[in-house]
Amino acid sequence: MFPRNYNAYYNVMPDGTVKQINPFTGTEVWAVPGRGNKPLANTHQETPNPIQRKESEDICSFCRTRYFEVPPEKARLVKINNRYETLFHLPPDQYGSTVAEFRRTGNLFEIVTIDYWKKNYGYKLNAELTSWRDSYITHPHGAMHINDIIHYKLVQSGKTHDEILKKEAFDKLRILDAFFGGCHELIIAKSHYTDYAENDSQLKSSGELSTEEHFQYFKFTIDAMKNMMGYNRYIRYISIFQNWLKSAGASFDHLHKQICGLDEWGASISEQIQLVRQEPNVFNELGVNLAAQYNLVFAENDTAVACVGIGHRFPTIEIYSKSYFARPYEQTDEEIRGVSNLVHACHAALGSQLSCNEEWYYTPIDAVYKMPWHILLKLRVNVTAGFEGGTSIYINPMTPVDLRDKIVPKLYQLRNEGKIATMSLAEECAITPNPLKYYLK
Ligand SMILES: [Zn+2]
Repeated sequence: MFPRNYNAYYNVMPDGTVKQINPFTGTEVWAVPGRGNKPLANTHQETPNPIQRKESEDICSFCRTRYFEVPPEKARLVKINNRYETLFHLPPDQYGSTVAEFRRTGNLFEIVTIDYWKKNYGYKLNAELTSWRDSYITHPHGAMHINDIIHYKLVQSGKTHDEILKKEAFDKLRILDAFFGGCHELIIAKSHYTDYAENDSQLKSSGELSTEEHFQYFKFTIDAMKNMMGYNRYIRYISIFQNWLKSAGASFDHLHKQICGLDEWGASISEQIQLVRQEPNVFNELGVNLAAQYNLVFAENDTAVACVGIGHRFPTIEIYSKSYFARPYEQTDEEIRGVSNLVHACHAALGSQLSCNEEWYYTPIDAVYKMPWHILLKLRVNVTAGFEGGTSIYINPMTPVDLRDKIVPKLYQLRNEGKIATMSLAEECAITPNPLKYYLK
């Protein structure tokens, strides 16, 4: 058992400096008073430009009039008579027949490529994916789509016109399988701007979705994870993340998540699993219990709890699932909905102008020691500089209490307006010790 020496992780100095050590990564962070006075919203935006609303948007390659600018759709979530339904492997001539609420496609620029799986593991497309590929490319619309998208990829990689002509035939076979059976995918949302947008700052972020749309977005992403594990048996972890706006690494200001299959856990997950091996209750004790003792837990419902994180380089919100089930795809819809509601509320409170990364963590497929499903929202409001490089002490522009106090009033307002789900806020949270049940046998 840990000694309850919480000061080792969170220490407020007499001048107001908050020295923090992240209990899970060991990262040393200082928040210096006076650096966090900037307003939370509208930090990066230049003067917004007015926009002309169109029936169908065509602002970027993820917009709905440009369905053919990304690889073929593995799945599409549609809303028919107010019910959500998933259509798999849509034939290319039917893309325009429905409006996709969310689409799942291969990532044209894979981090872990299909060649990695093929060359290192002898990975092959299964019979279902092979027959989808073959029927797609023999369809005239499909053949055109594939040719265009390969051409686009080669142009993007800096090839000249002549090189492209020469390489196209050769690369086609190599690239083709990545579209149909690759393991780095995108989940793309329907809209670029909000329905009422009058200028280009009014982007449809996670927080601008309804609570139901946000739950469907989560569920569709989790279904994709399950599906991917089914066709690539070498996967040991699937990384799920969302980069919102350019300073968080997004190529387009159009809402999307990324799903990337890996053959290992990565250093960060491995370290966290090592911690739960030593102390199964560590995510309660040094996660939520620690945050609760410093009044950093700010939102809670039956299946999830949200707090401000301690010891992060960027101002960070942590949302934990309380479920016994430690992988998102093992959880019931109600458990997933609880997590989704808190994540949605936090995004809504942060607003669509704030650049942030959403990162999912959970127990790897082959781990026998459990860590709870949790999600970090990291606000990309600061850039690490020379001081950090030289000292390994990171300066976070906001103290955890500053961040909490910026979010909580906004959450009350959104709850009053009915824009977020019902949940306990601030002093209303029960903060019963050990709220996370993942550790139970
Ligand atoms: Zn767009």
